[in-house]
Amino acid sequence: MKLFNNLIVEILQYLPKSFVWIFSKRYIAGNTLEDALRVTKNLNDQGIKTTIDLLGEFITSNEKIRNHQAEYIRLIENAIHAGLDNSFSVKPTMFGLLQDEEMCYRHMRDLVAKAASDNRFVRIDMEDTLCTDREIELYKQLLTEFPEHVGIVFQSYLRRTLNDIEELDKFEAGGGRINIRICKGIYNEPPDLAYKKRNEINDNFLAALELMFRKKYYVAIATHDKTLIEGAYRLIDKHHVGKASCEFQMLYGVTPELRKSVMSKGYTMRVYVPYGLDWFNYSLRRLKENPRMVSYIIRALFIRQ
Ligand SMILES: Cc1cc2nc3c(=O)[nH]c(=O)nc-3n(C[C@H](O)[C@H](O)[C@H](O)COP(=O)(O)OP(=O)(O)OC[C@H]3O[C@@H](n4cnc5c(N)ncnc54)[C@H](O)[C@@H]3O)c2cc1C
Repeated sequence: MKLFNNLIVEILQYLPKSFVWIFSKRYIAGNTLEDALRVTKNLNDQGIKTTIDLLGEFITSNEKIRNHQAEYIRLIENAIHAGLDNSFSVKPTMFGLLQDEEMCYRHMRDLVAKAASDNRFVRIDMEDTLCTDREIELYKQLLTEFPEHVGIVFQSYLRRTLNDIEELDKFEAGGGRINIRICKGIYNEPPDLAYKKRNEINDNFLAALELMFRKKYYVAIATHDKTLIEGAYRLIDKHHVGKASCEFQMLYGVTPELRKSVMSKGYTMRVYVPYGLDWFNYSLRRLKENPRMVSYIIRALFIRQ
């Protein structure tokens, strides 16, 4: 199966974009900000919040960085104007994190300031391990100024994650509440940095979740894994975590039935809605990093979930 998945990924990059779109459209709102707003409105009407992500990562061209900055600001303004119930997710390498941390900070700060002006929230997505320290540092810098309006992500496949949670606890969050999304992690990391076995990644996910509940962080539980969702329910009961102190998050187009089941228990559900012209590269990169996605996609194309 692994060989088959890898083969499909190799072939996909030589096929016309319109063909790859057949695979991708289920997971991406569309090319434009209007698409992201339309999908958000639709989900809001079903009682679901969203976090909107403009696609693009590991960008080095200053012109592209400026364009993305302008697009994010336009997105935030339009979402506020439309009165939608959403937050924003941002990948800092879109603003040149690996080239110029100071420039990236300035761009990120502008976005968070704009969002905070209408009490909106920005989450810094976590990228690969070249970025981990830099993104945590960026989070701390922004948290000092915007204690209620910025959050970050930790990945349970990383061996360092429990330690990162402990370290963050020592940081003075400027009176705000530390707000973490916990997910498994999508990048292909070496075994000295990341757990590779599913049971180790899952054990670490629940250990991280429990540690964050103990520390009274606000936690966004981002997974479609039923075992982890059941484990999260047990930890929520064990630590008497209120419904205002956590939420569940899932990706647009993935496991809608599971989403409904979580919502039926009264939990907040937030769906991650990516959009933008970079969907082709994004889809290929995700598939290369995780060829197992091919089987999800093929199943999703043929089986109603
Ligand atoms: C809201 C959200 C935000 C995220 N942010 C980040 C981030 O900042 N950094 C990062 O590294 N990773 C991020 N991820 C990705 C995450 O790390 C995982 O790679 C991804 O969620 C799959 O892991 P899982 O927990 O769903 O478990 P898995 O074991 O991978 O999946 C469990 C089940 O869910 C279904 N499923 C999962 N993914 C798909 C899919 N794409 N299509 C169809 N079915 C699927 C399958 O039925 C599968 O059996 C995010 C995920 C979510 C939900």
